[in-house]
Amino acid sequence: MAEDFNCPNCGGQLSRKMAHSKMVACPYCESTVLLEDDVLKLAGRGGVMADEPSLFVLGRSVEYDGETYMPIGQARFSYANGWWDEFWALDGKGEGVWISVDEGDIAIEENHETDLQIDERKLKVGARISFEDELFRVTEADRGKCEALRGEFPEAMSVGDTYTYYHLSGPRGRLITLEFEDGEMYVTEGKWIDPYEIRQQAVEANA
Ligand SMILES: [Zn+2]
Repeated sequence: MAEDFNCPNCGGQLSRKMAHSKMVACPYCESTVLLEDDVLKLAGRGGVMADEPSLFVLGRSVEYDGETYMPIGQARFSYANGWWDEFWALDGKGEGVWISVDEGDIAIEENHETDLQIDERKLKVGARISFEDELFRVTEADRGKCEALRGEFPEAMSVGDTYTYYHLSGPRGRLITLEFEDGEMYVTEGKWIDPYEIRQQAVEANA
C-alpha cells in the first residue's frame, strides 16, 4: 500500500502508508509536503520534536480492545498545562483515527461530520450542551498551538497554528472534541480509554 515519492525540497525518499494522506513531514530536511491530486507542494516546516517516552511510536502497532492501531503521524501541541500529542493512526480496517495522548489521559476519536453550529461563547467549563440528542458537559476548554509534526496526516497542518478546543463528556464515556480555527468548527467523536489496556506489539527484527 505504501507509495514512495521524493521530497521536493531535498530529494529525500518519502512514503505514505495511507492513500488519503494529504501531508507528509520530511524526516531529512523537516519540510512538510502537501500531496493533492498527485501534485507535490512544499507547505512549511515540521519543526523539531523532542523524543519523550510514550506507549505510542510511529510505525509500531498497539492493540486495544481487540483492535490494532498503527500510528503513522504525530503532531505535538502545547497548551497552558504543558503539551500533548495527537497521533494519526490506521486501525485494522485501514481507517484513520486520532489518538490523543496527554500523559495518562488517552482518547481515540474519529472525524465526525456535522452541520450543527455551536456558539463558542456557550462552551464554558461545566456548561451542559445538547449534541445530536445527547446531553454533554463541557469538561475542558483551552487553546492549543502546534509545535512539531512528523509522519503523515489526512489534512494540511502547520507548526504555529493555534486553535481553541473543548472536550464535551457524555454518557458511556463518550467524548466529543470541538475545535475552532478561523471561524470553522471541527468535530471529532470517540471515547477515553484505559492506558493499562493498551498492548504494544513486538518489534520485528528487520522492521
Ligand atoms: Zn526533505
